[in-house]
Amino acid sequence: MRRVSILGATGSIGQNTIDLIGREPDRFAVAALTGGRNIAQLASDAKALRAEVAVTCHEDLLPDLRYALQGTGIEAAAGDTAIAEAGARPADWVMSSIVGAAGLMPGVAALDQGATLALANKESMVCAGALMKQRARAGGATILPVDSEHSAVFQALIGEDIAAVERVIITASGGAFRDWSPEQMAAATPEQAATHPNWDMGQRITIDSASLFNKAMELIETREFFDIDPARIEAVIHPESMIHAMVGFGDGALMAHVGPPDMRHAIGFALNWPERRALPVERLDFVKLGQFTFREADPARYPALRLAREVMEAGGLSGAVFNAAKETALDGFLDRRIGFLDMARIVEETLVAISASPGHIDAEFTLDNVRAVDHLARQTAAGLMAQQNK
Ligand code: NDP
Ligand code: MG
Repeated sequence: MRRVSILGATGSIGQNTIDLIGREPDRFAVAALTGGRNIAQLASDAKALRAEVAVTCHEDLLPDLRYALQGTGIEAAAGDTAIAEAGARPADWVMSSIVGAAGLMPGVAALDQGATLALANKESMVCAGALMKQRARAGGATILPVDSEHSAVFQALIGEDIAAVERVIITASGGAFRDWSPEQMAAATPEQAATHPNWDMGQRITIDSASLFNKAMELIETREFFDIDPARIEAVIHPESMIHAMVGFGDGALMAHVGPPDMRHAIGFALNWPERRALPVERLDFVKLGQFTFREADPARYPALRLAREVMEAGGLSGAVFNAAKETALDGFLDRRIGFLDMARIVEETLVAISASPGHIDAEFTLDNVRAVDHLARQTAAGLMAQQNK
């Protein structure tokens, strides 16, 4: 039996993970499940999977969770510390699928205990890639990518020499507004941005797909995961979302990873790694599909892509500033305090403001410094949004 925990069990990735684990109850024993507001889902999954502990990040919801788990013998806990403890609870495999920088601490706790960390939470790689890799080495842990593009690159690299890689191409669907004019995008509402043409995902990543902030994060994530020179990493719009990534080698060959837009492939690959086992995903019929198309991911239309390149160039803790400013700007867009196109401007202005004074992005790469710069970036971005709305 493999002991597994799922951080962010009530979300889109968490539920897909539970779907796979629930199909093989004899293979997996569930240690911890964590969630947020969705106590009913958390409790019902904890009961169905016989988890040892269920944790919500919201302390005020602990009585509800306790009530829902009454008489089951399943432990209930709440708060950020309890979430980090869930990551530290002994397990062979931990799914990191909390949304946002909140996923960093419990992910690090899983690395410290030497678990295999299936990483959907791209924010932790963007904020603190160097630190995650260092903690994995120290803890004897393995980090496996779950983001579909990075799982695709990982799979294309099996048995290959990274030195022979000439280019890595990650694909983007283009999101909800790929055919919209800049004027239409400027007036877009959160509801319109939260509709994805191909993937069924959480609200925040769906909106990030429309702004291409998701792809921007993934450029940085590619650099961190595979230690590839940013100049060799490309993004291209592929509206069908069937090719997830391509790896090009020095002999001109390109290995493309092709599959339906179903996260259970990447999750299942990480769950079964290093084995490949059968997964309940659709098998493609290429004659029915007919064609795959591609378009330029234009940095002029999508400033997030340019900002990601600047962040990779600047290095240090600039990824943490980028992510925190992006999360704050997204909150502003969701609350209708700023427009869709204002998000990139707020992120850019935050990066400029924080880079201007020394001691932040060039600070030593420690967890405390990442958290400090994250906090500063959130304050700075919030201040910029308040100024705009005066
Ligand atoms: P969801 O919004 O669907 O789920 C997020 C999960 O995190 C929920 O369990 C939520 O609890 C919990 N949560 C929210 N805030 C906090 C917090 N502050 N502390 C602890 N837990 C919290 O997101 P997704 O599943 O779509 O995405 C999860 C991660 O995976 C993100 O980093 C995303 O970028 C990445 N990813 C997602 C993909 C997808 O297909 N969905 C694809 C590739 C990457 P509750 O809902 O109960 O409040
Ligand atoms: Mg992705």
